[in-house]
Amino acid sequence: MGPVPFEATVTDVDAGTATVRYRDANGIHDARGRFLAGCDGSHGATRGAIPAALSRRHARDHGVAWLAVLAEAAQSMPAVTYAIHDNGFAGHMARSPEVTRYYLQVPAGDDPASWTDDRIWTELAVRMRVERFGALKQGRITERRIVRLRSEVVDPIQYERLFLVGDAASLISPSAAKGANLAILEAKVLANALVDAIVRADERALTGYSGTCLPRIWRAQEFSHWMIDLLHGPADGAPDAGFQRALRRARLDSLRDSRAHQNLFAEHYVGI
Ligand SMILES: Cc1cc2nc3c(=O)[nH]c(=O)nc-3n(C[C@H](O)[C@H](O)[C@H](O)COP(=O)(O)OP(=O)(O)OC[C@H]3O[C@@H](n4cnc5c(N)ncnc54)[C@H](O)[C@@H]3O)c2cc1C
Repeated sequence: MGPVPFEATVTDVDAGTATVRYRDANGIHDARGRFLAGCDGSHGATRGAIPAALSRRHARDHGVAWLAVLAEAAQSMPAVTYAIHDNGFAGHMARSPEVTRYYLQVPAGDDPASWTDDRIWTELAVRMRVERFGALKQGRITERRIVRLRSEVVDPIQYERLFLVGDAASLISPSAAKGANLAILEAKVLANALVDAIVRADERALTGYSGTCLPRIWRAQEFSHWMIDLLHGPADGAPDAGFQRALRRARLDSLRDSRAHQNLFAEHYVGI
């Protein structure tokens, strides 16, 4: 791993080069290259380097918040588990043999500190119906933070010699677990395009980078959006709450009963 630079800014991008100015322990430097891959996440410097007049930023706040928890505990169920309950959504995802991520839907603005270990395990037990599916394996909670479900897509995700990758290009709510998958897909598309450009002097794939990636990003966004509607009930006091609940029930029934629907869901979820 190279030195970690701080305060990086993109100072210049044109048809021939890109320059990043950064500070490290030895001072301020300029790094100049033929290509710039923006892999610095949603808070990095590269996504703002595309002139606003030349790109659109599509954004949606889904009005839903999750308490994201990491527990030093083995997984309690054989697979990723989503629980729908009148108290709100709960999720279970194994991260390693010793660590499991859990989610609890909470009111936006909740203070994570108000969620003690006991309160978290009690609420998870209720929403995940342990009396029917078995007790949860508990352990020390090492992370608890509020994640607001937001989506954002930059369009296009390239400008001159700059190519955005992963969360720098698009943010996707964790409801369908797609963010890291998209980041890897885009990194692979960009890596192959750079090989074509550098080794074969063929820039067609590089020119088409945004056009190749954006349809896949939107397909993932569409599925994630469908999952958000499925996992969360209507907002408190929504005038059509009964209608929304009935639609959700119909969606779940279809997913439970229709083989064709299950196959489509699996294809979207795995990301073929
Ligand atoms: C709670 C939660 C759960 C998630 N679960 C899943 C899941 O189950 N499956 C899934 O596919 N995705 C999941 N995601 C999404 C996934 O984490 C992201 O989509 C993915 O990490 C994006 O990768 P990235 O490399 O584009 O950005 P990041 O992971 O944000 O990496 C960017 C890196 O660049 C560094 N950086 C930025 N600026 C500088 C600088 N100036 N100098 C040095 N370093 C810099 C940052 O520190 C960071 O390490 C989840 C996200 C959240 C918040």
